[in-house]
Amino acid sequence: MTGGRPEVPVAVIGAGPRGLAVLGQLLAALGPGGPWEGTAAAVHLVEPEEAGAGRVWSPHQPAGLLMNTLAGHATAFPDASVRTPGPRLTGPTLLEWSREHHETGPLEPWEHPGRALMGRYLHWAYGEMLRRAPAGVRVVRHRTRATALARTPDGGLRVTLENGDGPLAVGAVVLATGHTDQREGPGDRELTGFAARHGLVRLPPGYPHEAALDRLEPGAEVLVRGLALNFFDQLTLLTSGRGGRFTQHPDGTPRYLPSGREPRIVAGSGRGVPYLARGQAPGAMPRGHRLRHFTGEHLERLLARGPGGVDFRTEVWPLIAREAGAAWYATALRL
Ligand SMILES: Cc1cc2nc3c(=O)[nH]c(=O)nc-3n(C[C@H](O)[C@H](O)[C@H](O)COP(=O)(O)OP(=O)(O)OC[C@H]3O[C@@H](n4cnc5c(N)ncnc54)[C@H](O)[C@@H]3O)c2cc1C
Repeated sequence: MTGGRPEVPVAVIGAGPRGLAVLGQLLAALGPGGPWEGTAAAVHLVEPEEAGAGRVWSPHQPAGLLMNTLAGHATAFPDASVRTPGPRLTGPTLLEWSREHHETGPLEPWEHPGRALMGRYLHWAYGEMLRRAPAGVRVVRHRTRATALARTPDGGLRVTLENGDGPLAVGAVVLATGHTDQREGPGDRELTGFAARHGLVRLPPGYPHEAALDRLEPGAEVLVRGLALNFFDQLTLLTSGRGGRFTQHPDGTPRYLPSGREPRIVAGSGRGVPYLARGQAPGAMPRGHRLRHFTGEHLERLLARGPGGVDFRTEVWPLIAREAGAAWYATALRL
């Protein structure tokens, strides 16, 4: 009870960018001018990592792990382009925040900043939201994982926590758990078993900054499977992360100065070629793309059918594929 009013308990599980956005919208809806203004509420936020940043954007990861999106496109707060009804909890974009907080020199909109920097911004945004929480609303932080969710006989929900606190009895739960870990399949077990039998190290797929790369000895031959985003991160950690330096020859061609602590990397993938690196054009932001197929009009028509009335594979996916194709061909023609 808060001031005699019963408190509405809700839980948000996962506090990466999505959980953070949900928290911001909830606080705005409970605040001045919001549909639930004056309602007393307890918002239980369950997240084992730093709130706001979560696992992907851990502020503690090495600075060399970069965002694949541009600094000028990142924000933790809704801006004028968001058309949800009701009030919004607004705040600075990543760029504005980094300038206000004198982080790592001036950050330019066309740069790919470190994910740790983005994580510090997201965690700051979380603190800012707490500071601006309306009176009568408590945000209760649980630095642990949720391990079970069950319906109770009275129609409520029960969330079990790994650290033994709780369980939480709530009326509603938002699951914002993002990328979850892959369960080990037969293929993984075979590879792990093979590695164990031959005295080799196998590191399973996972988040780059959490991988036990220190188990890879300098000079050891290391086979890397996959040449996409995770590969670039591993490469960074195993080269500049081990003291090597990327520089240039006098003619401008790239040059790598090893530290001698690197393993020997043998990399491959099904396609056999790495993805193209994201371009970075100082002073220029990508032009963007005007939707032609995956439009609001199309979506509204599909949404009008109600829950269960739309087949993703035959009705939604083709619109997305056509849109991506249109963007690709438009760019190819322009170039
Ligand atoms: C390595 C990596 C790099 C990426 N880089 C970019 C990028 O550069 N740009 C970009 O736009 N996107 C990037 N992404 C995509 C990324 O998923 C999104 O940007 C964004 O983080 C998604 O937000 P989210 O809150 O939905 O999920 P997440 O950020 O994944 O957050 C989910 C949170 O839920 C928590 N959680 C999970 N299970 C539980 C549980 N049982 N109990 C409690 N908490 C739980 C996790 O700890 C995690 O913090 C990247 C993803 C990965 C994996």
